[in-house]
Amino acid sequence: MPHIIVIGAGQAGASLTAKLRTLGFDGDITLIGEEPVPPYQRPPLSKGYLLGDMTRERLFLRPEEFYQNQNIALRLGAKVTAIDPTAKTVTMGDDVLAYDELALTTGSTPIHLPASIGGDQQGVHVVRTLADIDAMESEFIAGKNVLIVGGGYIGLEAAAVASKLGLNVTLVEMADRILQRVAAPETSDYFRALHTSHGVNIVEGVGLDRLSGDTRVTNAALTNGTTLPVDFVITGIGIRPATSLAESADLTLDNGINTDAHGRTSSPHIWAAGDCASFPYRATRIRLESVPNAIDQAEVVAENMLGADKTYIATPWFWSDQYDVKLQIAGLNTGYNNVVTREGDKDGAQSHWYYQDDTLLAVDAMNDARAYMIGKRLIEAGKSPAPDVISNPDTDLKALLK
Ligand SMILES: Cc1cc2nc3c(=O)[nH]c(=O)nc-3n(C[C@H](O)[C@H](O)[C@H](O)COP(=O)(O)OP(=O)(O)OC[C@H]3O[C@@H](n4cnc5c(N)ncnc54)[C@H](O)[C@@H]3O)c2cc1C
Repeated sequence: MPHIIVIGAGQAGASLTAKLRTLGFDGDITLIGEEPVPPYQRPPLSKGYLLGDMTRERLFLRPEEFYQNQNIALRLGAKVTAIDPTAKTVTMGDDVLAYDELALTTGSTPIHLPASIGGDQQGVHVVRTLADIDAMESEFIAGKNVLIVGGGYIGLEAAAVASKLGLNVTLVEMADRILQRVAAPETSDYFRALHTSHGVNIVEGVGLDRLSGDTRVTNAALTNGTTLPVDFVITGIGIRPATSLAESADLTLDNGINTDAHGRTSSPHIWAAGDCASFPYRATRIRLESVPNAIDQAEVVAENMLGADKTYIATPWFWSDQYDVKLQIAGLNTGYNNVVTREGDKDGAQSHWYYQDDTLLAVDAMNDARAYMIGKRLIEAGKSPAPDVISNPDTDLKALLK
């Protein structure tokens, strides 16, 4: 009986193993996860779950019985420490398991503030796992001072939750503006105004110098010379693909685990998908940190593990929820040199359309599902309406799809 092992019981691992069964694979499947809980959704960790709007049960992608019913051996609280691609085995504690095909869906790990600037103090949190949220939940008390380090989506979502719960929120961003790495100034401006209107103190172009306190963090010194009293700190300063296993097995790395267009790594019986994997995209290679990518890539890998020869063609999209604003992003804006704004019908609805010369690359749509959907379809179809057509409020967006 062939045995497929999947290391990493997160979004991609859950999708991959479920897809194998949907495709009719009746061999053995083992899904191994370091966390003690079955695969769950991470997006609510910085949104509804953190706010207290969503129960723990609803986070789980499938009930535990699903894995039993599908004959997927779920090994939780189990860390794989080595892979031997020649012997085709993985080591997990005292167990050595043999595989016929192996997939790495190990995700990514958050970057921690260095201990040298106080990052190891009590009261300093990251937002990646359910355990991280459990550890910080009791800190969310109205009137407390929270410092958020990093103005990317995770930091901004945490700021929105903290502000909604009545905390005093300061967010520091070392770059000139929030969202600088991922969005145009127009989108940064939109979210700065939104947060400021909810009382969040956004400090840009300023870094964290150090955190201090006796038993736990009480003060934060910023690089502009100011010191803030803090009750706790949340960091959202980026993630790194979890590649250490792949590295020790001598797999090729390149901004994550290097895979070909089919999801195969440099070792013939080892595959990778999700946050940990980089793959060919148009004329370049990319790595995406998103749920849709984890699902779609994992499903293509499942097909290819069973002998299909399917190319993974990513159609990037992402979302973020902050206060009552839903941001939806279609496409990838890398290389943009022009951005046009389109006002939506509803109050606060707006979209930013990214172009590289005449080519439409991406759309950021705030409370404008229509602009998002039409933008996504245009990008996927390779259609690029002229920028002034998009910004003209009289343009019927739907007509552009014809
Ligand atoms: C707070 C937060 C909010 C987010 N919001 C959004 C959003 O709004 N929209 C969106 O599209 N995406 C969002 N994301 C990103 C999205 O959740 C990830 O891209 C997605 O979870 C990636 O799936 P994955 O399976 O690759 O990795 P993960 O879901 O991280 O799963 C990887 C698993 O592998 C396990 N693992 C690693 N190494 C080993 C080992 N050696 N042995 C055993 N197990 C191992 C890890 O413990 C982990 O459980 C968010 C992420 C976070 C943290």
